[in-house]
Amino acid sequence: MRKYAAAFSALAFVLGAGEARADVKLDVTYSTYQLRGLSKKAIHQDLHRVAQKDADGLIEGELRDDWHWNFRFVAAENSCRISSDEIILRLNILLPAWEDQARANSALRSVWDSYFRELKAHEDSHIKIAVDAAEQISKMVHGATAAGSCAALEQTLDLAARQIVDSSEKAQDRFDANDKSISVLE
Ligand SMILES: [Zn+2]
Repeated sequence: MRKYAAAFSALAFVLGAGEARADVKLDVTYSTYQLRGLSKKAIHQDLHRVAQKDADGLIEGELRDDWHWNFRFVAAENSCRISSDEIILRLNILLPAWEDQARANSALRSVWDSYFRELKAHEDSHIKIAVDAAEQISKMVHGATAAGSCAALEQTLDLAARQIVDSSEKAQDRFDANDKSISVLE
């Protein structure tokens, strides 16, 4: 189950750390679904009623990633080099919003806060995996040059970029398989 979360702080951290290259463009959007309830049990039941399900169970949070890249090439005699590269990673993060927060008692609010904090931390990790993969593609293609035609270089880089995305998807699944921390509402 993809239980990703993140806040703009995660994005700011990544960019602020100077790790994101100018040629990786991140586009992060958020979606929410509403939960109601004035007890842990009531929220939990609402979660089961409202949240979508997949083969692994409830989808409490989700990250959808959408990848694009544009590479331009310059041919030289018997060789080719990449002249510009742009990797566009669009991320959409689904998170719950608790509608009854203002009416609830402080004990329940603190239960919710820790649940939501764990969900966000989990999804921050998913974002990092995706951004790391985008950075890997960027590093691989930036300034790439090879003997042969530009068509051949383009094909090679495109295939390698797809492999990086594939292995990041596997890393996302492994992360989900290993991270069972979110159970505060259970
Ligand atoms: Zn997950």
